[in-house]
Amino acid sequence: MNKPPRILVLGTGGTIAGAAGSATDAAYRPGGLALEVLVGHLAALGLVAEIVPQEVARIGSQDIGFAEWQALHAACAGALGDPAIDGVIITHGTDTAEETGFLLDLTLPTTKPVVLVGAMRPADAVGADGMRNFANAVKVASEPAAAGRGVMLVMGDAVLAARDARKAATSAIDAFRSFPRGPLARVTPAGIDWFGPPHRPKQQARYPFPQALPRVAILTAGAGMDEKPVEALLGIGCRGVVLAGMGQGNAPASVIAALSEAARSGIPVVRSTRVDEGLVDRNVEVDDDGQGLVAARALGPARARVLLMVLIANGICDAAAVQAAFDGA
Ligand code: GLU
Repeated sequence: MNKPPRILVLGTGGTIAGAAGSATDAAYRPGGLALEVLVGHLAALGLVAEIVPQEVARIGSQDIGFAEWQALHAACAGALGDPAIDGVIITHGTDTAEETGFLLDLTLPTTKPVVLVGAMRPADAVGADGMRNFANAVKVASEPAAAGRGVMLVMGDAVLAARDARKAATSAIDAFRSFPRGPLARVTPAGIDWFGPPHRPKQQARYPFPQALPRVAILTAGAGMDEKPVEALLGIGCRGVVLAGMGQGNAPASVIAALSEAARSGIPVVRSTRVDEGLVDRNVEVDDDGQGLVAARALGPARARVLLMVLIANGICDAAAVQAAFDGA
């Protein structure tokens, strides 16, 4: 008989490990449950996989940061190089799953499946979604065909590429959307229905994991604003700025002028959008060529900030080089 797949499960907390103490309470503590408890519930589902649990943190993902990312990256890199491990699952709060997922996507090889999984309802709520999502993540992480697709996010029955995924609803169970590509696969009772072949087979990490992350801020544009917030961000030492602009990454002329000045002084500025979905292309209403700015393309502000932090940390600050990275992301 074949050996069951061996899956490293890295726990960080979030709602999937959250308990309200009542099946109907709105208030709850994300990360209240130990990873062992979650894994114990999983064993009762009868999945054919050997789970190796490792708790990295037990927090709401709004508090996740460099220390946890460094620990997750090191554990994933170790597992990818360990012939005894077949895949990795990270249990994670949904608030910042897109940041952690994309950071790891940029900095890990694609040789084995790495899957983030979360939940929208605490473990003891009516209709809790955590165990179903976790069981689906085990299926995906156990499947050799899941390798070569970058880091993935499993929510409900959908498998999304971390590169494309964003949280689009604050409390609905079906909280994540994927753009510009739709889901990579759907988990069915019979197996996993992949919608295409691996798009990044056997790739090495695209960027080394940074020693530290620079301060990069997201500035959300609003009608009638002036350039003072840009000056304030530069005043606190931001090394890069992501504009969550209106529409195609627009902002009032005085704001664009201040951002352009920052770009000329060596602070890379990336124009993303405050709109929930869509591309930001170069030179549509803003003269990116003339102003030295970068268009985020399909990346929303949170993921654009992750990529910009990784680029700056790796010494990539020139607008043309930053644009090339966003084009190829
Ligand atoms: N804010 C918490 C977190 O992101 C709970 C939300 C969730 O997991 O869905 O960890």
